[in-house]
Amino acid sequence: MEEIINILVVEDDEVDRMAVSRALKKAGISAEMAVAVDCKSALKALLGDDLSENDNSSSEATAHANTALSEPSFDCVLLDYRLPDGDGLALVQSVRGAGLKVPLVVLTGQGDEQTAVDLMKAGASDYLPKSKLSPETISRSVRNAVRLYRAQKEAASAQERLRESEERYRLVLEGSNDGIWDWDLMTHAIYCNDRLYEITGLSADEADVSYDLVCQLLHPADRMRISQAVAAHLEDNVELDVEFRLLHRSGEYRYCMARGKAWRDAQGRPFRMSGVISDITERKRAEESLRFLAEASALLSASLDYEKTLDRLARLAVPFLADLCIVDIVEDGVVRRMGVAHADPHWKEQMQKLEDFYSPDLNGTHPAMKVIRTGDAALVSEVTEEELMAATRNAEHWQIVREMGFKSYMIVPLLVRGRALGAISLVSTQQSRCYRPTDLALAEELARRAALSLENGQLYRETNETSENLRQAILILGEQQQQLRTLQQLTNLLNQRLTDLPGLLREMVEAVAGAIPGAQFCFIMLNNPQCDGLVLTVMAGMDTEKLRLENALSPKDGLFSRVLSTGKAQLIQGRSSELSKLEEVPAAIYAAAIESVQSGRLGVLAIGHWDDENAFDEEDRNLLVAVGEQAAIAIDNARMIKALEEQEKRLEDQNEMLAHKNKELENQRQQLQLNNLQLLEAARLKSQFLATMSHELRTPMNAIIGFSQLLLRQRQSSLVPKQADMIQRILSNGKHLLALINEILDLSKIEAGRLELKLEAFNLMTLVRSTVDELRPLADERHLALYIHDNVQNANVINDSVRLRQILVNLLSNGIKFTQTGSVEVEVREISPDRLAIAVKDSGIGIAEAELEHIFEEFRQIDQTITRKYAGTGLGLAITKSLVQLMQGTITVESKLGQGSTFRIELPRAVKATGQGFHAIGKVRTLLGASSLADSTLTQSVQKRRPGRRLY
Ligand code: ADP
Repeated sequence: MEEIINILVVEDDEVDRMAVSRALKKAGISAEMAVAVDCKSALKALLGDDLSENDNSSSEATAHANTALSEPSFDCVLLDYRLPDGDGLALVQSVRGAGLKVPLVVLTGQGDEQTAVDLMKAGASDYLPKSKLSPETISRSVRNAVRLYRAQKEAASAQERLRESEERYRLVLEGSNDGIWDWDLMTHAIYCNDRLYEITGLSADEADVSYDLVCQLLHPADRMRISQAVAAHLEDNVELDVEFRLLHRSGEYRYCMARGKAWRDAQGRPFRMSGVISDITERKRAEESLRFLAEASALLSASLDYEKTLDRLARLAVPFLADLCIVDIVEDGVVRRMGVAHADPHWKEQMQKLEDFYSPDLNGTHPAMKVIRTGDAALVSEVTEEELMAATRNAEHWQIVREMGFKSYMIVPLLVRGRALGAISLVSTQQSRCYRPTDLALAEELARRAALSLENGQLYRETNETSENLRQAILILGEQQQQLRTLQQLTNLLNQRLTDLPGLLREMVEAVAGAIPGAQFCFIMLNNPQCDGLVLTVMAGMDTEKLRLENALSPKDGLFSRVLSTGKAQLIQGRSSELSKLEEVPAAIYAAAIESVQSGRLGVLAIGHWDDENAFDEEDRNLLVAVGEQAAIAIDNARMIKALEEQEKRLEDQNEMLAHKNKELENQRQQLQLNNLQLLEAARLKSQFLATMSHELRTPMNAIIGFSQLLLRQRQSSLVPKQADMIQRILSNGKHLLALINEILDLSKIEAGRLELKLEAFNLMTLVRSTVDELRPLADERHLALYIHDNVQNANVINDSVRLRQILVNLLSNGIKFTQTGSVEVEVREISPDRLAIAVKDSGIGIAEAELEHIFEEFRQIDQTITRKYAGTGLGLAITKSLVQLMQGTITVESKLGQGSTFRIELPRAVKATGQGFHAIGKVRTLLGASSLADSTLTQSVQKRRPGRRLY
């Protein structure tokens, strides 16, 4: 169906309009007609109300006209040349001046060539004289004009679209993140947009981009692949879609993706190639980061052994994330280096040094320690020398770190619930890799995952340790229970055998061989102190006859001697040289000392296996040692029991012997008692004899004395002087003998307890003076002075005057007898109102200290030789002492050899009557025991009583 043509008919004449309409109709043109009757209304219809008024060609009007034209309008204008308000030429000029391209077909009245030329010049599309108006002419003219107009309009529209498209394309290219390249395969020149320059970091002024340059910038590892892909596209038209790394001016490789297409000539030969290149570094990095994190997660979750995992993590981080990665964790307040990885193998030595000498201190200034303490990550994009210096401890430390060339670092804490378990330090030594916040985010994510894994690992380890401890404890308890049961059985056995040591030992080795599963045989060697070495005592088990232990029992270097000397259990395995001394070598022997605290080391207990050198373990050792201890106690007990039994036996024997001896002693005692009785009887008889004899002797002696005196007293003596002298000597010796007899009589009375004091009141001084006077002749005879010192107020005493006189005589006569020159003095004084003292002091020969205690004994004389200088019986002081004691007094002596003696007696003023005589039964034995001596001494005494005087 034919298209409808919108036609504006500008005609003031109705008839003409009708004619046009008919002609169009006849020509079969489907027209939609609008009518304008003058120029003004025509312009209004074409340009709109506003502009039709303003018929000028201002730019503003043009702009608006352009806008109007862009809207659907008339396809053609049929205008009459003559119009009421102007001619068609003006209208044409106005319309064209307004920029409208609408076809203008001018209907002219008269055929005027010049008007037609003017109209055509002014922009009319055609002109048609009214006279020639016919359906054909109008149809041809309108159709051609409309076709041309529409074609022009279409072309303009296409042009506009193209322009717009180009504009958009330009905008897209300029705004695109992609680089555009256009490679002339003939010249090898490559056109690039700014973005491509940006990707490489080069500038258009610096370098002309060429294929060679691109090849140089490609990562060496990608070069071959890319050139192959380009060749494949050019030669086989294989789609070009490649990824590669391109060196940026900074030294960093950027990840790029390129697509391109070749332009080919009619023969299909490529002459040009163009395409785009995109920087996909960030995406690639993100992908790699994700892949890295996924890999790290897989690694971290692969094992709960966090020590190994963290070390592997450090290795994983190098070189992807760092050139040096260190993982430190804090355990029990101490920093432990869990992982160290570095890209440069030459750093090994430096890292070792850093670890050995500069191990981090939790409280130190090291940045990683600060991160652990605070829990805040640290990022230093570019490390300065000052920062390095601050983080190092000394010049050497600084030097090492400096040499390693740290450029940038970041340290992230291993945080779990706000608590830093440690830190990961990541160091870059590449100028091109200075850490940025995106890197820190990745590192923090890595640390977060590592921290979780670390916590899990630590928890797992703690749990494991706890359960392992529990398992161990249960195991140990089980073992201990088993050991205790075995030991208990053994102890029971041993206790039953306590008195039978060989049986006990046998029982013991059999029990041990039975209780320890790996023990094929067991033996005991006991230390023999006599030969100072071990002696195989007992053995039990398999093939024990093959054991020739004597060879292995070297006292010094033998295995068993060593066990004995050190007390340490020893396991000898695998036919060692020590065991090779044995005839048949067992594969394993475990030897432990038989030892306890109280009994010491008694020997060695050993178990063995002939073939399996791993037959014994720690458990067996413990049991062996425990059995050794029990054995030591049992052996010790057995030995003690044996010793006790022996001791008991010895005691029994001794008891028997003692009983025997007791019996003998009893016999002896009875004998002695009998002897004593006999002695007492003998003493009694002797005393009686002495008393009787003295009495019997006194009677004739008195007669001799009496007759001698009678003879001497004759007035006219018929005696010749010699006879008179002899009678005088008879009288003198008789008197002496009588005195002697009296002394012996006194002594015998004293010993027999028959001497009694006859107490009376008398004046002591009177007695002392008369006695001294009595003895004065003796003193004079020896030219000795004899003094009395009377220091007594009251000289009245109650005593036996005869016996007191006897005492004084004894002491004075001894003083005179044993004094060569000087004096003898008697001093009497009152010690107290009730007591008196009499001292007899001489300047004589004195008495040696050793003799002082003996002089009061009967018959004791210091010089007891027959040829002694001083006469005497040795009875005087004994009788004196006995009499003083009878008088309830005391006698003492002070003397020094050559310096005289002082005998001092102290007596009560009034001696009490005891009613009993002095009876010294203890003396009886002395007297009787010495009876034979006494007899001989008595005889001698009698013979030598007066020196220089003979008895005959
Ligand atoms: P004797 O009859 O020998 O004098 P005594 O009993 O009176 O016996 O004395 C014992 C001994 O004591 C004497 O033999 C003498 O050796 C020693 N003796 C006693 N008195 C003295 C004295 N005054 N000076 C030195 N020796 C004395």
